[in-house]
Amino acid sequence: MEITRLQEAASLLRQAKKVTVFTGAGISAESGIPTFRDDAGLWREFPPERFAHWKGLMQEAWSDPASVARFILAVLEPIAKAVPNPAHTAIAHLAEKTTVTVITQNVDNLHQEAGSQRVREVHGSLFKIVDSRGTFVRRLNKPDLLSMVAHLHELLQSKVTIFKLLRSFRSILGLSWRGISRPSIVLFHDDLAQPDWSQAMEDAQWCDLMIVVGTSAQVFPACTLPVRVKMRGVPVIEINPGSHEFDSVWLEGKAAEVLPQLLSAAYP
Ligand code: NAD
Repeated sequence: MEITRLQEAASLLRQAKKVTVFTGAGISAESGIPTFRDDAGLWREFPPERFAHWKGLMQEAWSDPASVARFILAVLEPIAKAVPNPAHTAIAHLAEKTTVTVITQNVDNLHQEAGSQRVREVHGSLFKIVDSRGTFVRRLNKPDLLSMVAHLHELLQSKVTIFKLLRSFRSILGLSWRGISRPSIVLFHDDLAQPDWSQAMEDAQWCDLMIVVGTSAQVFPACTLPVRVKMRGVPVIEINPGSHEFDSVWLEGKAAEVLPQLLSAAYP
């Protein structure tokens, strides 16, 4: 990474009073959670047109339940086993220096585990069970996810049927007088999670610096947030080893290396 760019970004950070950090799958890559669109990303094996929306998942579950079991396992297992990496920790520590709000597209709860307090989960959370109206029902924890992972591994040892598949989801899916309850994750064609999305749009209105970390900015409308910030003339710093999507100060590199360096440079 270019030293002058790091210094430019550090100077922007030092002056900022209200920082919004906007994160995507890349921030959790070094916690062992695969991204979706990179070379080793999940969409390679599980195409989004079949697996990224509820209708497609239901159709797959009827026609090829084993593929859905493999997909859910590929999503769940890394998240169930992940711990925050130095990028999540650096963002949590940044709140000791200035006002910080995290807007994340991730569903992995790692910002909260690292200690961040104000987190908007605009694509929901794997750990929050909601009913069909979106009302909170209960929280899941890592042991709940790990037990489901164990069930799915066991299931894949035999011939998978839709009934066996549904049975292995019973700890996260439920049916009650309030309808079907399920994790609050936002799939393609779903509305964004509320109130988080409305709050995130407000955050984009008041921040005086945005740091964008580990997103390919392909998912609409979340990807419009940095554009809104730029339109107000507010600076954007972008941390990504692959490319940068916005008119920003680009710090080229992995989040778990670059974010701690940025904090050390801003607050020596
Ligand atoms: P994406 O898969 O489209 O893009 C990942 C981005 O991260 C790429 O730009 C890549 O260059 C970058 N990246 C890879 N390794 C990195 C690293 N070590 N440090 C910094 N950046 C790195 O992800 P997206 O833009 O977030 O969109 C995919 C959607 O799926 C989002 O809703 C996303 O949050 C969700 N998703 C969530 C998780 C999770 O909860 N951890 C994991 C996969 C996908």
